[in-house]
Amino acid sequence: MPQPLNPKKASNQGKKAKKIIITRVQKSLKGPSGFFGQTSIAILVFVLLIVSYSFLSTGKKPEAVSLSELAQNISAQTVTSIDIKGDDLNIVYKDGTTKISKKELDTPLTTTLKNYNITPAQLSAVKIDVVNDQGFFYWFANLAPIILPILFILFFLWFISKQVKGAGIQALSFGQSKARMTLPSDEKNKVTFKDVAGAREAKEELVEIVDFLKNPRKFLDIGARIPKGILLMGAPGTGKTLLARAVAGEAGVAFFSISGSEFVEMFVGVGASRVRDLFDMAKKSAPAIIFVDEIDAVGRVRGVGVGGGNDEREQTLNQILTEMDGFEPNEKVIVMAATNRPDVLDPALLRPGRFDRRVTLDLPDRKDREEILKIHSREKPFAEDVNLAVIAERTPGFSGADLYSLMNEGAILAARENRNKVSQFDLIRSIEKVMLGPERRSHLLSKKEKELTAYHEAGHAVIASVLPYADPVHKISIISRGRAAGYVLKLPLEDKKLQSKKEFLADIAVSLGGYVTEKLLFNDLTTGPSNDLQVSTALARDMVTKYGMSDLLGPIALEESSGMPIYGSPIGSKEYSEKVSAEIDAEVSKIMKEAQKIALETITTHRKALDAIAHRLIEVETIERKDFEEILVANEIVPKKKLDLEHQK
Ligand code: ADP
Ligand code: ZN
Ligand code: MG
Repeated sequence: MPQPLNPKKASNQGKKAKKIIITRVQKSLKGPSGFFGQTSIAILVFVLLIVSYSFLSTGKKPEAVSLSELAQNISAQTVTSIDIKGDDLNIVYKDGTTKISKKELDTPLTTTLKNYNITPAQLSAVKIDVVNDQGFFYWFANLAPIILPILFILFFLWFISKQVKGAGIQALSFGQSKARMTLPSDEKNKVTFKDVAGAREAKEELVEIVDFLKNPRKFLDIGARIPKGILLMGAPGTGKTLLARAVAGEAGVAFFSISGSEFVEMFVGVGASRVRDLFDMAKKSAPAIIFVDEIDAVGRVRGVGVGGGNDEREQTLNQILTEMDGFEPNEKVIVMAATNRPDVLDPALLRPGRFDRRVTLDLPDRKDREEILKIHSREKPFAEDVNLAVIAERTPGFSGADLYSLMNEGAILAARENRNKVSQFDLIRSIEKVMLGPERRSHLLSKKEKELTAYHEAGHAVIASVLPYADPVHKISIISRGRAAGYVLKLPLEDKKLQSKKEFLADIAVSLGGYVTEKLLFNDLTTGPSNDLQVSTALARDMVTKYGMSDLLGPIALEESSGMPIYGSPIGSKEYSEKVSAEIDAEVSKIMKEAQKIALETITTHRKALDAIAHRLIEVETIERKDFEEILVANEIVPKKKLDLEHQK
């Protein structure tokens, strides 16, 4: 029954707005007919080899005769000539037939025949030739059984390695970079700034880079040093990858992209050589952009953690730094990198001459969200009732990627119901789907569970509606979604950049609403509120350790946003003194108790509203905002002021 504090998204990267066709850097030598063509050619060659080999070794063999038979034939004077080739005998008879035989090793044929009582006179009637053994054919016939299989194995290995490369596994070429290259000539997959909505500041920063890549002379003549590295920072799905592509598209330069984790896959020791390959390739096709996605996979602070960190990662990182330092000033290669964890990056990456330009991408605000929705609705037919402004209003906290997938889900819904236009209702249903995961109507609650869940969610909802600093309720449901048995959808009245202590306290009180209600009404507790408790306790702890919101500890930040201690003993040893630890614990528990008190008071005061909401939930399972506010008014709670869209513009 967790209820989201901030409407956050179920992450959904990976779905790209456009299919980006990517050119592999080492082109696999694919024939025109693709994989199956190649396989059949290989099989054909194999069959041919076998056939010719067996033909060669068996041939149409003449009849063999024994030496004693040959001796009889000679004395009967039917033999014309004998060719001796090594110990093979080729016998030609008077009637024109040929037969073969073998002579004894190391004994001349004449001696052997004499032992069979052939007289010199009889022998002289037969023409005996010794044929030179050392010819090409002799060698070929002798070596073929050895060489052909070897040739075949070599061919087979070569063939397999080509297939493997084509499949992108590259097990046999692990030194080479795995970067994907998009050429400026690739018009179909070109991304420009037009495809990136919002992010105005970021684009302004990057316009300069585009300008440099287009007219480097202008900058170099005046002695300007062009930044080598640009770090894009921002939450997942805010369009970092998209923006990097757009820079390459705007400037019309080659774009090499690789993900930090790809450097250190599979084999130990390949990271550094991949970096070298990548930079070499980019320099060859300059002007170019190298884009290292998720650089935190290789760029974490070095030398911390158990065992002194990961050597492979360090070597890769060092190689990146070395390559960047080695750039000549006129080399028109710019390195862009993206991360959603700038706080864990090694400071060496951020030094001047490396990633000294930093561009932050924020989650889009309402206006930007509307723009992003517009971009992704380009190819979608809409019904007349679609109002993207309303969708934008209802999706605070959504990233660009979330909005993209919202649009997509909307279209899927319409298609599934065999309509050819996407309606507003499709989009509204998709908001919840993206936020919470799909509904699980099959998950049936028992009567008891249903009552409990209804009261639990009603508890959240009443407190959210009464406390002035809590976000108002948009929807309540006891239909389970994802892992939650039910949920209360709260949305802030406006986009917030800053949050206050009062809002945090209200948030925690709302989170505890389910817990408090269960305890009060059923005099028992279930496992239901466990997620509520985790989320709210973490928030209370952050208030104390990060935001200086505790009176006892005062204006002090104990932890970075990553949870690394700032204040107290140095890294590695004990984090804080025992005393500070104990104080943190005491303060967190004080905040939680205070919030519990507020929650309990609210529930008790507005018991009537609680019952009304819970009963309605048991009856209809989902209450939308309008109905919900009617219940509130009927129970003497003033609903929070609605956001007036027209007013905001
Ligand atoms: P990141 O790299 O920051 O995780 P991406 O660049 O991969 O995010 O974004 C994922 C998708 O979300 C993009 O392909 C695009 O469809 C959509 N998107 C994100 N931000 C924007 C934006 N500002 N404008 C338009 N589309 C966006
Ligand atoms: Zn809950
Ligand atoms: Mg990305």
